[in-house]
Amino acid sequence: MSDRRRRLPAVSRLLEQAERAGLLEHTPRGLVTQAVRTVLAEARDTKTAEPEGGWLAAIRARLDRPRHSLRPVINATGVVLHTNLGRAPLAEPAQRAVAETLRYSTLEYDPVAGERDSRQQHVRQHLRALTGAADALVVNNAASALLLLLNELAEAGDTLVSRGELVEIGGAFRIPDILAKSGSTLIEVGTTNRTRLKDYALAVSPRTRLILKVHRSNFVVHGFVSEASVDELATLGRERGIPVVHDVGSGLLVSLERYGLRGEPLVRDSVAAGATVVCSGDKLLGGPQAGIIVGPEPIVARASRNPLARALRPDKVTLAALEATLALYHDPETALRHIPTLAMLTTNSDTLRARAERLAALIEGATTASGSSAVGGGAFPDAALATTLVVLPDPGAEALSQRLRAFDPPVITRIERDRVVLDPRTLADEELELVADAVRGTRGAGQGARDAGRGARDAE
Ligand SMILES: *Cc1c(COP(=O)(O)O)cnc(C)c1O
Repeated sequence: MSDRRRRLPAVSRLLEQAERAGLLEHTPRGLVTQAVRTVLAEARDTKTAEPEGGWLAAIRARLDRPRHSLRPVINATGVVLHTNLGRAPLAEPAQRAVAETLRYSTLEYDPVAGERDSRQQHVRQHLRALTGAADALVVNNAASALLLLLNELAEAGDTLVSRGELVEIGGAFRIPDILAKSGSTLIEVGTTNRTRLKDYALAVSPRTRLILKVHRSNFVVHGFVSEASVDELATLGRERGIPVVHDVGSGLLVSLERYGLRGEPLVRDSVAAGATVVCSGDKLLGGPQAGIIVGPEPIVARASRNPLARALRPDKVTLAALEATLALYHDPETALRHIPTLAMLTTNSDTLRARAERLAALIEGATTASGSSAVGGGAFPDAALATTLVVLPDPGAEALSQRLRAFDPPVITRIERDRVVLDPRTLADEELELVADAVRGTRGAGQGARDAGRGARDAE
C-alpha cells in the first residue's frame, strides 16, 4: 500500500493538469483544489494507483456530482459549537474510524471469542479511565441520557430540583417536560436565585427517589444567588439513601481554565465530588452527538436493562467516532491539539491574527479588526474569545451574506455594524482560498454565486 501511495501524484500537479484542461476557467480554484484532494483521498482509500478513466475525468465528475441536502458548509461565523451547523467537527482519527467501520464491524462481536459482546465495550474503558467512574453507558444524546436516568431511578416517585435549575436548553429541551415524560414527579426546591442545602433536606419525603442537579449551561446568574454544591447534595443523598444525578450537559473532559474558560463543570470533578451518576453530552467533548452516563455498576446495569436504553442506543457511526475521540483524551495535550473543538477554542491570538491577515490579503478591500468569537452550543455562555475579524467593505451586508450562503459549499458569515465579517477561528487554513473565491464570485458581474459555483460548471 505504501508503494502505491508514494506513486500518487501531487495536488499541485493535478491542479496544473486541471488548469490546462480549462477547468479553472469557470470554477474557482478552491473548489477544484478540493475536488483534487477528494479524488486523491479516494484513490488512497481504495488503494488504486489511478482512477478508471484517468485523474481529469475523476476531478470533473467530482465537480459535477449532484449535491446532497446534508452537505458541508464553511463556518466563518466564529461560533465554535454551532448547533445548526452540526456542533462539533470531528477529529481526523474519529473521521477515519467512522469511514473504517461503515461496512461490517465488531459492533457487538468479540472476534477472538467468536461471541456476541456489548456495543458499549468500545467506549466503556475509556470513559471509566477519563472520568473516574466505575461504569459508563452511552446513549443517543444528553437529553436522552437524562430521560433514561430519571425513568430508571425515579419513575412513580419524586425528583427534587432547585427552582433555579428548571431550565430550557435550546430546541425546547425543558427540564420539567423531560421529568414529566420520565414518569417522575417534579418537586421544586428553594427559589429562583437561592436554594440552600436545607431546602433539599426539608423537601425529602418517603416518596423521594432522586435529587437532580442541572448545570445552567446557557445562561449565568449574578447578584444575590446561592446554590447547594454537588458534594453537599452527595452528603445529604448518602445520609438519606437517595441517589444524586448531576446533569453537567457539555461533557467537558479537560480543564480550559488556563485559556480563560471557566464555569463549566468537568465530568471527572463531578464524579469526585460525589455525584452518584453524572450525565453529559457531546458539546465540549468535541465528538459525535452522544449522551454519556457514568456511575456505579449496579445503577449503570439497571439503566442498561431499561427498555428506553434500547430505544435510545447509539449506532456504529456514533460509537466509532466517540471511541476514537475519547482515545485522544488520555493525553490532555493531544486532545487540545487534535480535537477541533478544543483546538479552535484555544487557538492563540497571534495565529488568529495571522490567519485573518492572510485571508484579508486574498480579498480586495478587506480589512481586519479585533472582535470576539463565541463558544456556542449552550456552553460558556458569557465567554467572549478575542479574535481578529476580516471585515468586507461591501455595502448591502444582508444581500452579500445571502450570496455567500448560495455558494457551493455555502459560506456562513456574521454581520456586525452593517458589514459582513469573517472569523478565522472556525476556518481551517485550507479553507481560506475557498472563502476568498466565494467573496470574489459574489462580487462578479452582479450575477452572484451561481457564476462562481455550479452554474458555470453546469454550462460547460
Ligand atoms: C445541552 C444540554 C443538554 C441536552 O444535550 P443534548 O446533547 O443536546 O441532548 C442537557 N443538559 C444540559 C445541562 C445541557 O447543557
